Amino acid sequence: PSSKKEGSCEIPNDKWEDIGGLHDIRQELERSLINCIKYPEHSKRCGRAIETGFLLFGPKGCGKTSIAKAVANEARANFIYIQGPELLDKYVGESERAIRTLFSRARTCSPCIIFFDEMDGLREKREFQKGRVVQQLVTQLLTELDGRNKRDGVFVIGATNRIDHIDEAFLRPGRFCKRLYVPLPGPDERGMILKALGKERPIDPTVNLIDIAKMEACENFNGADLYHLMREATLAALDEAIANSSTSDTSQRTVKVKHFEQVVTKISP
Ligand code: ATP
Repeated sequence: PSSKKEGSCEIPNDKWEDIGGLHDIRQELERSLINCIKYPEHSKRCGRAIETGFLLFGPKGCGKTSIAKAVANEARANFIYIQGPELLDKYVGESERAIRTLFSRARTCSPCIIFFDEMDGLREKREFQKGRVVQQLVTQLLTELDGRNKRDGVFVIGATNRIDHIDEAFLRPGRFCKRLYVPLPGPDERGMILKALGKERPIDPTVNLIDIAKMEACENFNGADLYHLMREATLAALDEAIANSSTSDTSQRTVKVKHFEQVVTKISP
């Protein structure tokens, strides 16, 4: 899976083509975020209110981080990954300044997308610690989201598995105003995800990934499970090819249905 390197600020390599399904979300983000970053003057001229806060919510491993990175890649925007709760642990006592620094850093490399993963963790911490530190951090974050400090070219995407655990203050108008649900894939979407994940792999021409995705054992698989399935099946094919390396038959080296069948039961959704 794509790395979640915290703190670095660069255009990610993750592309839309690497994401299977999720067409509606892609369309919405293209319209309301990517185009605003790519054509800021045009958006302003049309009098469009530029939305700067987005919240992706839905079950784990279904592509929220991948989407955020692909958005940045498509818009040619820098990307900063921040894990919500870690932010607190790392900057205890100076979290307020950390947030200010973060946003001013983002402004210097704008257009820039700041991605806050596990936003729900902030509220849990706030309730658990009940301390000023957490309160200050949340308040500072809200100040930045409200754009009281200049927000030019800085966009924020938050992600959570538990929208019911999000600090309500974040959900008020003008903050994370655009919310998009990233669902668990159904059978057809699972096929699209396997196709996206298999693009660069030596999949045997006899394999129909749409059928693989419909296997009973794949029910309830999320994107991360499908990634593991693809990786394990490829490894199984590789092991077999190594064991039979004396043979020159190149079909031995491709990933076949039997390899998917061998490994699928090892993955529990
Ligand atoms: P979490 O809530 O656990 O942070 P997430 O929703 O952010 O999860 P990602 O980190 O984007 O999910 O996905 C984990 C991995 O699963 C990705 O690196 C990718 O390999 C795979 N994956 C998930 N969804 C998709 C998808 N729709 N298409 C292709 N790969 C996917």
